[in-house]
Amino acid sequence: MIRINEHYLKLQSSYLFAEIKKRMRDFQEMHPDQEMIRLGIGDVTRGLPSACVRAMQQAVSEMADNATFRGYGPEQGYDFLREKIARHDFQDRGADIAADEIFISDGSKCDSGNFQELLARDAVVALPDPVYPVYLDTNIMAGRTGEYANGRYQGVVYLDCTKENRFVPSLPDQPVDIIYLCFPNNPTGASIDKQGLGKWVDFARRNKALILFDAAYEIFIQDEGLPHSIFEIEGAREVAVEFRSFSKTAGFTGTRCAYTVVPKDCMAYTSGSKPVSLHDLWFRRQSTKFNGVSYPVQRAAEAVYSPAGRDQVREFAQSYLDNAKLIRRSLQEMGFDCVGGIHSPYIWIDGQRDAWEFFDLLLNKAGVVCTPGVGFGRCGQGYIRLSAFNSRENVEKAVERIGKAL
Ligand code: PLP
Repeated sequence: MIRINEHYLKLQSSYLFAEIKKRMRDFQEMHPDQEMIRLGIGDVTRGLPSACVRAMQQAVSEMADNATFRGYGPEQGYDFLREKIARHDFQDRGADIAADEIFISDGSKCDSGNFQELLARDAVVALPDPVYPVYLDTNIMAGRTGEYANGRYQGVVYLDCTKENRFVPSLPDQPVDIIYLCFPNNPTGASIDKQGLGKWVDFARRNKALILFDAAYEIFIQDEGLPHSIFEIEGAREVAVEFRSFSKTAGFTGTRCAYTVVPKDCMAYTSGSKPVSLHDLWFRRQSTKFNGVSYPVQRAAEAVYSPAGRDQVREFAQSYLDNAKLIRRSLQEMGFDCVGGIHSPYIWIDGQRDAWEFFDLLLNKAGVVCTPGVGFGRCGQGYIRLSAFNSRENVEKAVERIGKAL
């Protein structure tokens, strides 16, 4: 008899975005003429930067010609892209990362979800609450948690992010093995400074733990003093892996390209305490299970680092940040306590009521879709997340409608 992985049955049945979609569908059926403005799901709305489009078109033409055609590529990505990333995203910022420590992929969702496969099933996981739900769900699937009760899974060390700690988690008061950190944070928009991140690196080194650092929103950091990468912190090469994505940086949510940095010094241990290179394990895992990213898409990603591409992605990020500023200011003027929206496209709003109740209110009274904070963890109860990923016109309309509705 074929049996299932019963850990899947521990997952909460409706994944956050599926439930939001269902409520949106219900609303649209009841109000077919009302235009909905989506400030919920964190998908970008602007077309690809022209530098990326041109590079992709050129690569497609190469694929059409026998002389320049490329078949199976290296699963870790082409050197032309890995080298640009290492130089521009790391070495230029003083972070010691080499091209062969970069693994190109089709998304940070898969990478941040899959990386835990390399680690022991009984490893203790610490993760922020609230946070991007993929970290928790993939560890539930892997069997690293107990049952669900009162909004929490047994066996997980939750790092509460609240107003009191300005949504930056404190170190756990017990040893843990896997630590997920996400800065700038989804959903709160909080950022971390070098000193704060340094404490986590020291903690991981003391405890022989591993930090899985998600920097998918790095492009939105405005303050030059803030770290863009965990590898700007001394000692991080030994204890950290970093996930980066072109999704929010360059509008690649439909095109798909991301990368994961696994330094060669980063170790995990056998039950006999023998160190094993995570770089070697991830290389082996990706060579076996991952097909790589298509050549035209990698050429498009490479164009992000051209002079024109760099200007264009900066302009993209700035336009979303301008929207974020408007949302934050407007909601503050309406009397709501808000964080985020400065180094991040997300604004985290204390709704002063149940998160789903506030979601329904904004949808039904203003036709605006937000994300209820509780979908990101128990500490998100009472909050909603608004995203700046939309046109200026829609954002202006949305804040006006919210103002009227409230
Ligand atoms: N990491 C965080 C924190 C995210 O919010 C998201 C998407 O919303 C991702 C990763 C997914 O990135 P990708 O599109 O590269 O899979």
